[in-house]
Parts: sequence; structure tokens; C-alpha cells
Amino acid sequence: MKHDKKNIMIILSSPSGVGKTTLTKKIQQKYQSFKISVSHTTRTPRSNEIDGIDYHFVSDKEFKKLINEEKFYEYAKIFENYYGTLKKTVDEDIITNDIIFDIDWQGTKQLSKFKNLELIKIYLITENKEELKKRLIKRNQNSDEEIKKRFKSFDEDIKHWNDYDYILINKNLEACFKQIENIIHLHKSNTFINSRKSQ
Ligand code: 5GP
Repeated sequence: MKHDKKNIMIILSSPSGVGKTTLTKKIQQKYQSFKISVSHTTRTPRSNEIDGIDYHFVSDKEFKKLINEEKFYEYAKIFENYYGTLKKTVDEDIITNDIIFDIDWQGTKQLSKFKNLELIKIYLITENKEELKKRLIKRNQNSDEEIKKRFKSFDEDIKHWNDYDYILINKNLEACFKQIENIIHLHKSNTFINSRKSQ
């Protein structure tokens, strides 16, 4: 796949509840050039989620068919559900847009193997575990059982911070957003200079 050097791909990963989805949406609202990669999942939609916008909600059977047909750049089983990123959408979108991926460490590892994808990998964390627990409860999107499961996965999740280019602490949403903006500006200007050099 050949794409415009000026377009960038950003991965945002974090343990559940750190604020990644809010930040992803904030980037997209401010920077119209960004498209959010809409994943496929077998998870049931939450009451505020819309099919085709938050996720493509599919059955287990449909998801497995896509795996067998090698349609995914990456996929992972997380909290008993499958999540995956389609190759076709990424390859098409990067021609005209920057892309943000809201995916976990397993997906990041798999995407990194594709050397044609130039990824900027950002890992977000809260300042401590207690803060994360508070946010998961406050978010009120998951059952008690789900919250426990998500909280427990924190230790496993943060083991993979080393696979990322940037680690950001989301203590204050605006400050964290500013840091992401700085990273975007840095890489946008670098890719622009590189593309000019190679012309
Ligand atoms: P949630 O169920 O809270 O929407 O997402 C659970 C986790 O799945 C989050 O960490 C999110 O980043 C991750 N996730 C969402 N889409 C994908 C995907 O396409 N691939 C992978 N590997 N992870 C994903």
C-alpha cells in the first residue's frame, strides 16, 4: 500500500477507563483530517453506542468469517469479546486522512508488524490505580462484574507500555490533550518535510 506521506496513524491504548475514547473523539472534533478507525466487535452495544459509528457490531460467526478470510490487520479477544481492525478501511482511509486507532496492546503489537504502516504509538495511564477504579465506577457503563474484570486487567495491560513511543499520564484531560496535540504537530511537520525531501 502506498499512501500520502503527510498522513499519519496514531494508536491510543490504555487500560480501560483512562479516558482514551474521550480523547480520541476530542482529536477528531478539532482536527477534521483525522478519521477514527471504527473497529468490528462481537461485544453487545452499550445504550449510547451507534452501530457503524462507535463500532461495527457483528456476530461471532461473522467475525470468525472475517478472520478466516484474512480481512483484519489485527484482532484480539478482550474481556471475552473479539475486536478487530479491517485492512480495507485503513488502506482506503489513509489515502485521504490521518487515522486514530483506539485499540489495545495486542492489536498494537500486530499492527507494528506491518512495516508499510507508519504508526505513532501512544499509551495513556492514570496517575495511580485508585484513580482508575474511581473513573471506572463513575463512568457507570459496566456492571460490577465488568468493572472488576477491567480493573484486574490493569496490571497485565501496563506491562506493555514499553511497546509504545509515548507514555502520557491523563491526570487532567486538557493537559493530556495538549500533549497529544504536540505529538501530532511534531509528526505532521516531520512527515511533511520527509515527503518534500523524497520528491
Ligand atoms: P470497550 O469494550 O471498552 O469499547 O473496549 C475494550 C478494549 O478494546 C479497549 O481497550 C479498546 O481500545 C480495545 N479495542 C477496541 N477496538 C479494538 C480493535 O479493533 N482491536 C483491538 N486489538 N482492540 C480494540
